[in-house]
Amino acid sequence: MGMTGIEIFKLLPKTNCGECGAPTCLAFAMNLASGKAELDQCPYVSEETKKILAEQSAPPIRTVNIGTGDYAIEVGGELVQFRHEKTFNNPTGIGCLITSDEDDASIQGKIERFKALQFERVGVMMRPELFALLDKSNDPANFKAFVEKIMGMTDASLILMSPNPQVMEAALEVAKDRKPLIYAVTMKNGPKMAPLAKKYGCPVVARGDGQLDTVIKITQNLLKMEIKDVVIDTGARDLKTQFTHNVMIRRAALVDRFRPLGFPTIVFANEMASSLEEETLVAATFIAKYGGIVILSDLQPHSVYPLLLQRLNIFTDPQRPMTTEPGIYPINNPDENSPVLVTCNFSLTYFIVSGEIEACRQPAWLLVKDTEGLSVMTAWAAGKFSGEDVGMFVKKCGIGDKIKHKSIVIPGYAAAISGELEEELGGWNVVVGPREASQIPKFLKVFKPE
Ligand code: SF4
Repeated sequence: MGMTGIEIFKLLPKTNCGECGAPTCLAFAMNLASGKAELDQCPYVSEETKKILAEQSAPPIRTVNIGTGDYAIEVGGELVQFRHEKTFNNPTGIGCLITSDEDDASIQGKIERFKALQFERVGVMMRPELFALLDKSNDPANFKAFVEKIMGMTDASLILMSPNPQVMEAALEVAKDRKPLIYAVTMKNGPKMAPLAKKYGCPVVARGDGQLDTVIKITQNLLKMEIKDVVIDTGARDLKTQFTHNVMIRRAALVDRFRPLGFPTIVFANEMASSLEEETLVAATFIAKYGGIVILSDLQPHSVYPLLLQRLNIFTDPQRPMTTEPGIYPINNPDENSPVLVTCNFSLTYFIVSGEIEACRQPAWLLVKDTEGLSVMTAWAAGKFSGEDVGMFVKKCGIGDKIKHKSIVIPGYAAAISGELEEELGGWNVVVGPREASQIPKFLKVFKPE
């Protein structure tokens, strides 16, 4: 929230009725300012006040939604300059260019690779999300047919690219329900192109001529027209200038709260390189440095996979370990005689352990205990994987109803809890398993629960 408690208080009804749960309007204002209350809790706030507070509490970089369905993305919405300050929120969208004069084999290849490039890693689906469709015909009917054709081939989110408002409108008529990104409003076509964003309810790119001043004028005009879902392309097409622009835009938005630059950016890596390898490096630079969307000329596994992985690393909250839902995980169709293993809910541990069990084809029950995303050893050291804790979890999770035996295998790194766990479970056989997950298949081959 950008406003102080006192500033918010001045906008409230000041009747101290208490219906919001706070004893006074001032207390409620203070709660709002510190993020402990929601404005909706006061039924008497005027529409005008709601508007002011919504604007003030909005992120300094606007969150822009593009697309619908599985491939919909949110870009922008960032709150910090550097990832180590807190976290980056919305991953850079990765897209591929298709031009309207491209031959069918090339288009088919890009779409097939787009569909194939889907990777699941530590429970997160990684894939590109967008196609940027560039008109080369300057003919409304031609571009409309081209966009329709691509929409019939993929559910990807779309960027529609034409400087001609008539051509753009023809494409929007068929694609509007996909909420495509309109590319682009310029100084020249603004009066005719900008209203299309309002008419069709789609986000729009403000495209400059390589100068930040120009893009500022365009976004100011868009803001005057109450068009807020904007993405910035400064028009720079060399790495150094684009990099400088991205840093300046982020600083201006976050530090100076300069609204005309408070938008995510789009970067055309395909226009800044002479090979796919170079393009990949350019894209990597702007995934790290503030690109809301990066566009490539093609989607090749050796280029896209490292970019997806880099994106996953950069946009994972460093303060919040990745976690798996605690509970009972049946692996390889276990039955009442199958062994029971317990581990923590740090995603990496879960996926490694479950992967090893799956791969060795031994049926087993894997119990995943909530350790707030800490690994086994760290959780044990922090008192979140003690014998008492694990015992209580085993009793509560309901595994006793699924098995006939009373044996449980604990990770080798948590051997110290075996005595306490035996005491907590009373009558169970606690077996210390391997330290390393890679040893689990060998262990399960000979282990017989009692
Ligand atoms: Fe004040 Fe609204 Fe809370 Fe009543 S409900 S005390 S008017 S903030």
